[in-house]
Amino acid sequence: MGKRSVYDAEPIPESARAVIDEMMETGDLFRYTASLNDPSPVTLLEKEFAAFMGVKYALAVNSCSSAIYLSLKAVGVMPGDQVLIPAWTFAAVPSAVVHAGALPILVEVGANLRIDMDDFESKLTDSTKAVIISHMRGHTSDMDAIKTLCDFYDVPLIEDAAHSLGTLWNGQKVGTMGTVGCFSFQSYKMVNGGEGGILLTNDPDVYAKSVIMSGAYEHNWAKHMTDDVPFEKYQNMFPLFNLRMSNLSAAVIHPQIAEVDGRVAKGLKNYEYVEAKLNNSPFIEVPKADAREVRAPDSLQFNLIGFDDAEAFDVMEISRQRGNMISIFGMQGDNARVFWNWKFIGNVPELPMTRAMLKRACDIRLPIGLSVEELDQTVDFILTCVADAKNTSDVKLCG
Ligand SMILES: *Cc1c(COP(=O)(O)O)cnc(C)c1O
Repeated sequence: MGKRSVYDAEPIPESARAVIDEMMETGDLFRYTASLNDPSPVTLLEKEFAAFMGVKYALAVNSCSSAIYLSLKAVGVMPGDQVLIPAWTFAAVPSAVVHAGALPILVEVGANLRIDMDDFESKLTDSTKAVIISHMRGHTSDMDAIKTLCDFYDVPLIEDAAHSLGTLWNGQKVGTMGTVGCFSFQSYKMVNGGEGGILLTNDPDVYAKSVIMSGAYEHNWAKHMTDDVPFEKYQNMFPLFNLRMSNLSAAVIHPQIAEVDGRVAKGLKNYEYVEAKLNNSPFIEVPKADAREVRAPDSLQFNLIGFDDAEAFDVMEISRQRGNMISIFGMQGDNARVFWNWKFIGNVPELPMTRAMLKRACDIRLPIGLSVEELDQTVDFILTCVADAKNTSDVKLCG
């Protein structure tokens, strides 16, 4: 195998091969072909993932975006309803809200990459029908305060933990604190299924509705092998959106669950190593972990300190020219995590705090497979790009 690049995804464990070979012969790729007492690879994945996360029910689907959309429908969000979302998240989140016909209300995110609780509190009202929190790249917002407020208003809390599998808050896994938690198995996340997502809940009604809407037509829900879920109550009462996962994806994902803890530990070790070195620079600040949080990082975010727009732009431009772009969310024309690029939501609000953060927050991948030598190279690369951008600010490469 050649040298790994920062754009590589995690390799697939060898043990996936036997299951996949068998499927090649039987052609048994559809999750509901299996007989009632013989769990399909998708059902097996759901059972094991739920057990791993310590949650009652899991529903595997074709993406985290689908999981978020189903969550909104299953908690009863109706067209025209208000849904609170962070102003810093992946475009999939406002997209799911729009897909459900609802109205995304954007909440400010501060320079510490967490939701601003004053703005959250002022926007959470009796009109709010759901809250989506994105644990963006492992940066966890104040889940204690958010949960308390959601409980007070009796609003369902949906956790978008797409890119935060393994992150802990007060020792509890993120994605297991709200009404529903959603994860992604897209290739750049902690578990690589190419595409895929999973929804977790302890609520039997939310689970029944999600399973049916995901495409468990007729009595296929029986193949989820759960006994206390009121599927019959919702049969034919909800549309079928057909967002199912195929057995092939499940076979690729399943053997990776056992690797998650190791990947998380390695990712955190790499992150803390790089973080300590970067924080020696006067130009860089890596947002500190909250005392209640243990992250599961496979990328690194840091803020540029004392840079104007042109200097910040030069960090991006210099690093791009040198072959490993340090992207700055709000300086990259089409970044999907930048709220003013979400033209599809209609009127994009003015959010000065989030805007200021996005203009200085840098983002670089830190794959867990990097060696110490590669980590050192990454640190040197970041430090020289940032210092050179600051020092050539008179030249103004591209400002
Ligand atoms: C990747 C990601 C998603 C979307 O996941 P898909 O499986 O690609 O649909 C949603 N939210 C966040 C924060 C993500 O990082």
